[in-house]
Amino acid sequence: MEHTDTLVIGAGQAGVATSAHLTKHGVAHIVLERDRIAERWRTWRWDSLVANGPAWHDRFPEATFDDIDPDSFAGKDRIADYFEDFAAKNNAPIRTGVNVTRLERHEDGFLATTSHGAIKARSVVVATGPFQRPLVPAVVTDPAITQMHSTAYRNPAALPEGAVLVVGAGASGSQIAEELARSGRKTYLSVGPHDRPPRRYRGQDFVWWLGKLGKWDAKAPDPGTEHITISVSGAYGGHTMDFRRLAALGVTLLGRAGSYVGGSLGFAPDLARNIENGDRNYLSVLDEADAYARAHGLDLPQEPQARIFLPLPACVTDPILALDLKTEGITSIVWATGFALDFGWIDIDAFRPDGRPHHQDGVSTVPGLYFVGLPWLSCRGSAFIWGAWKDAERLAGVIASQSTGTPQP
Ligand SMILES: Cc1cc2nc3c(=O)[nH]c(=O)nc-3n(C[C@H](O)[C@H](O)[C@H](O)COP(=O)(O)OP(=O)(O)OC[C@H]3O[C@@H](n4cnc5c(N)ncnc54)[C@H](O)[C@@H]3O)c2cc1C
Repeated sequence: MEHTDTLVIGAGQAGVATSAHLTKHGVAHIVLERDRIAERWRTWRWDSLVANGPAWHDRFPEATFDDIDPDSFAGKDRIADYFEDFAAKNNAPIRTGVNVTRLERHEDGFLATTSHGAIKARSVVVATGPFQRPLVPAVVTDPAITQMHSTAYRNPAALPEGAVLVVGAGASGSQIAEELARSGRKTYLSVGPHDRPPRRYRGQDFVWWLGKLGKWDAKAPDPGTEHITISVSGAYGGHTMDFRRLAALGVTLLGRAGSYVGGSLGFAPDLARNIENGDRNYLSVLDEADAYARAHGLDLPQEPQARIFLPLPACVTDPILALDLKTEGITSIVWATGFALDFGWIDIDAFRPDGRPHHQDGVSTVPGLYFVGLPWLSCRGSAFIWGAWKDAERLAGVIASQSTGTPQP
């Protein structure tokens, strides 16, 4: 049986970052990846996806995107290449095409059963992603309607002719709806509770403002906001996700999707409230940014026009509460309804009843077991590129402090 000091499972950005930091500490390790490096950036995302943050921000601190404007938004394949190049430059010991099918405790460490044999390790870092299993509610039963999760959506031309319903208006759903509407498709968008920070304000991107306002480092979501998605976009050069603007583009907005009865899908009467709360969130970021600029004497241009909204569209003031899908000509539904964690292959008593691991900032309650890349692992930034880097750096330090000093394989 093969032995290593530390086994890293998953080679997305979190696994690649963990490997880089373990190497710096001289910790012998192997990274196992069932597909390719950064596979989820390559094949789990639609063709036109660009990063939600500008290239100066959405990256590892150690490596810039040299070929693109730092204020622009890198495309998904460019991001996947970036991680692949980074891993190659660091000679990361990544084995692709190796699936870990079981992880269990073994003697004083762990035993991983893989598609290519068993590996024993003293420590294990689970880096299998914040978004593991696409969630599609089994609501609409009409076989004539093509249904897919946002991970399977590619582009407007790949959908059958006809109108499209997009359910979920976080970053994925709102961007997909905008792309469909711009392509000339009749598009419906079901909008739940959301935050929608301004893309830029007073000359600075919102990721810059979130840094200044200390929000990336926040330890936990504000109470009651755990299930609120963030609607942002780097598409078309980057603009604020404004649902009034989407309506002006031709998107029909709907409340939260409900039950499906006799070919008709119901929607909660919550659209106006969701839009109002999204506006409130948007305005609160402007207010906090203004207060910060004042308190710190920042010489930034004023932007009063950022507070002027388009009028509310008729679909908000006079909401549709049920849609007969056939009558509306809806032939596809894109479910942008999020993801679940799936640690069913880890046979260790390390999880809460809701499937999330028991941990403190990524250090499991099971000695030697670590998690990296999960939402809110140590702070708001944890599932984002630079946040995973920071968590990986800290966890690699913890692992190194306990390492036996086994040489690199
Ligand atoms: C649509 C979308 C857009 C996003 N845009 C941004 C953005 O612009 N900026 C940003 O900072 N973040 C963004 N994110 C969030 C985050 O950066 C990505 O989700 C990123 O892919 C997470 O990286 P990761 O390494 O933690 O996990 P993943 O990229 O999910 O990588 C996990 C890897 O583990 C492998 N794996 C899983 N199980 C096993 C197993 N049992 N054995 C072996 N291998 C396994 C998988 O194949 C996968 O390659 C976005 C997320 C989504 C869904």
